[in-house]
Amino acid sequence: MSAQKEPANIGRVLSFLREWDRGDRTVRGRMLNTFLTQNSGRTSHELELEFAQVASLFLARLTTWMKLTYMFGTFLGKQLKAIGIFLSASSHDQYLVEFLEDGGVLTLLDILGHPRSKEEEKREALRLLLTVSNAGRKYKEIICESHGVTGIAECLAKSNTDETQETAGVLLESISHGNPKYQNQIYKGLIALMTCTSPKAQQLALHNLHALQCKMKTAHCSIVEPLLNMLRSLHLEVQDEAIRLILDLKCYDVRPLLLNGLVTRLGPTKEEVQHHMEESEMIKMTGTLPVFVQQAAAAKAIRLLAKDSDELSRELLSLGVIQRLLYTMGNREHADAQIQASLALEHFISSYPVIEEHVQRGIGSTLFEAFMHQTDTLYMNMNESQAEILLTNKVHITEVVLALFSEKLNKPRLTMSRLRSAARNGLRAGEEASKAAEPKRNRSNKAAKEEEPLNASSPSCSRHSFHPPADVELLRSQLLRWYDNNKRELPWRTLAVTESDLNIRTYAVWVSEIMLQQTQVATVIDYYNKWMKRWPTVRHLSAATLEEVNQMWAGLGYYSRGRRLHEGAQKVVSQLKGQMPRTVDGLLKQLPGVGRYTAAAVGSIALGQVTGAVDGNVVRVLCRLRAIGADSTSAAVTEALWRLANTLVDPERPGDFNQAVMELGARVCSPRGPVCSQCPVQSHCHAFRTVQGKRGGTPGKPDRKPSTLPDIEDCVSSEACPLCPSEPWDEALGVQNFPRKPPKKPPRVERTLTCVVTRPGGGGGGGGGEEGGDEYLLTRRPSTGLLAGLWEFPSLLQGEKSSSSKDKAALCARVSGLLAGDLTESLFRYAGEVVHVFSHIRQTYVVHSVRLRDAGAQTPSKKAQWLTRSALQEAAVSTGVKKILELCDSVDGQKEQSCSGGKRQNCTGTKKKKNQRASKKPKLSASDSGRRQVSLSAFFSHVKQES
Ligand code: SF4
Repeated sequence: MSAQKEPANIGRVLSFLREWDRGDRTVRGRMLNTFLTQNSGRTSHELELEFAQVASLFLARLTTWMKLTYMFGTFLGKQLKAIGIFLSASSHDQYLVEFLEDGGVLTLLDILGHPRSKEEEKREALRLLLTVSNAGRKYKEIICESHGVTGIAECLAKSNTDETQETAGVLLESISHGNPKYQNQIYKGLIALMTCTSPKAQQLALHNLHALQCKMKTAHCSIVEPLLNMLRSLHLEVQDEAIRLILDLKCYDVRPLLLNGLVTRLGPTKEEVQHHMEESEMIKMTGTLPVFVQQAAAAKAIRLLAKDSDELSRELLSLGVIQRLLYTMGNREHADAQIQASLALEHFISSYPVIEEHVQRGIGSTLFEAFMHQTDTLYMNMNESQAEILLTNKVHITEVVLALFSEKLNKPRLTMSRLRSAARNGLRAGEEASKAAEPKRNRSNKAAKEEEPLNASSPSCSRHSFHPPADVELLRSQLLRWYDNNKRELPWRTLAVTESDLNIRTYAVWVSEIMLQQTQVATVIDYYNKWMKRWPTVRHLSAATLEEVNQMWAGLGYYSRGRRLHEGAQKVVSQLKGQMPRTVDGLLKQLPGVGRYTAAAVGSIALGQVTGAVDGNVVRVLCRLRAIGADSTSAAVTEALWRLANTLVDPERPGDFNQAVMELGARVCSPRGPVCSQCPVQSHCHAFRTVQGKRGGTPGKPDRKPSTLPDIEDCVSSEACPLCPSEPWDEALGVQNFPRKPPKKPPRVERTLTCVVTRPGGGGGGGGGEEGGDEYLLTRRPSTGLLAGLWEFPSLLQGEKSSSSKDKAALCARVSGLLAGDLTESLFRYAGEVVHVFSHIRQTYVVHSVRLRDAGAQTPSKKAQWLTRSALQEAAVSTGVKKILELCDSVDGQKEQSCSGGKRQNCTGTKKKKNQRASKKPKLSASDSGRRQVSLSAFFSHVKQES
């Protein structure tokens, strides 16, 4: 600001503030409207400019007015929005501190609880609190110290719109993240929230508890009862979240309470049923009883827990789960309870023969046979006497049985089909068990489709899995220690650690992940730094033009990535109120160009979400660690790798863990030349052990234990295992036998005619000071497809029956069309060929050049422009264009050389013309100069206006 302007601006601001102070509610309403219209999305620097460096004075007035009037609702929504402009204006905490000092947080919490506050006002207050929370740990603590957790939880429980509830849920998640001092308070607040009556609030409480529980060392016993009660919910999302949390809690000391509670809920007593009968409203509405809904959900949870480990199965068996499951199967009042109980029972029977014997004895061969034949559908055909047998069964798994169970645990397990065939053939399943030679399982029913939490794939060999918990814990700690000591310092890693604003952090990691797709780290660093300097937040990027984005991306390749980032930023600002999604699911669904890997990587690194992330490096490391040799692009291997990654990821440091695996893949376990001797997880690596086993030990290490693992060739062509190698072991490859990929398809071959058209430049103060330099004709590619929206030399695909004369004719027509004039083919000179390989196309550019004498040659189309040499170098052009330019330069250079080497006579004319061009500017008409390149920025702003 100039010295003369400064006092004038201060005067204007003081008069604005005076008007505010003296104004009544109408005046202030008008002033608020103007402020909102003119300042939305401004940075703190822009606000300070607007308010002559005293913007805080207006913020203080807004905060005070809100404090005094929120209970009357005077323009409350607008006041909150205006304060929001200040709080989101900068990642620094200048305005935040002032707002907090004026009691802003307490007022926002009061607004949440005030009976007259409208839903949209509460939502706005929650968003402001979210901005405060995202500013860092000390701000989260201030909210908690102000009893914010209770206020927000109550708002979540009582609110009647999904949007407000979701905002409150996100806020609670944000407060719980990185806030160890108040973690326990938030945890208890969420437990209390489960007892509210709003299903949406229950779901969000469970979701947040799931995220928080993983960070806690213990679980509070008060969580068990309300959690089990959630299984009564008629809302499937609530039930699913509750079961997910139950699965989390299996590792904590509340496990006995939880298992006991689940088994108890399989058999509601007559009193319980009677009591719930009195809840006639529910029955009228749903035709079912909540205790039966809970019964079905408990059976489902029991099945998932039992499938998790033998230890859990044993604990459930000792609690009498089999008798209760049979009882539940007999409940003809609720089909879902019958189905879930059948599936759980089927798991126990198919896993442990001793259970099968007891069940058969307990319910009789006929009913048992019926169950074996039609596990999924028995409930539809069950008669009264069968139901009675189930309801009154006396199948007790006693201590003796459990002892037997221990003995028989190691015996071959039966497949369901074998059991069914035994039942059909009238054989005792025990006899069939002794015949069962193969350990394979081939389950085709519904149960087989459920997730196997810790295994790579249910029908695969056990060597493809990790056996928790000791192995997994050890691998995590070894890998993270190595990562802490060896990781490369990269700009996006630094931002992910130091940036306290969650929104900016998520944006920064998103940008890095998109740039790193298909591009090497070393190449990305420079682009990333420039990008973040120019567009430090998602709002900045959304305000850029696509042309600017393409220009910034030029040379990085795979240009649709930049376009998608730009599209995503605009979507975040226009549809998500400038807030980046806060979950993996949100990232996946709401951001264009974000797939499963990118969502998981951003979610874990920026948001601390506990999820594995599988990219090319991770595929290689996991395939080697677990000897997965089947086609690594197959669906079975892909799913198995994701399951492994999700099993391994460290719940305390998910982002670091995922980056550690990628770093290992990039620097130690590389595609060719892995350095196994320096690998921190070598002791877990099946590929390494297989190689050692085949070589008969490492020289110099006589004490190495012989491997107990099966030879890799034992698995080759195993029909049952979709993860084992389908090709024979190649001795020369060593650990590089993993992973295997299908042979690459050869790239499509294309030939494109292209023409470098130049005209004498007129200077005019632009183009990087190249007065008199040549200008180049460029055209814009279509807005979709390969190199969408980039600039290139006039081009067209070469026809099948091409010849030199046909090529020239075609190019001549193309260029003439662009210039709206008739050129002659004799102007076209063949310059050579340039090959550029895209991921799937081998492109050969057949290059011609044309030098026009007329400096005023026009380009009537908006899709064609003249660019100076320096503008072309900076423009959004692909690497192919630059290669073509280099070819033309080298041809020109050769010509120059041959001229000075004795062919002076032939070249004189050209040289003379060049000299003329350099010394004499061509005259241009007014309209000509309007189409000419003046400077790069002027050029792009011109294009922007036109489009
Ligand atoms: Fe890769 Fe070798 Fe380490 Fe195995 S031991 S993970 S093959 S570097």
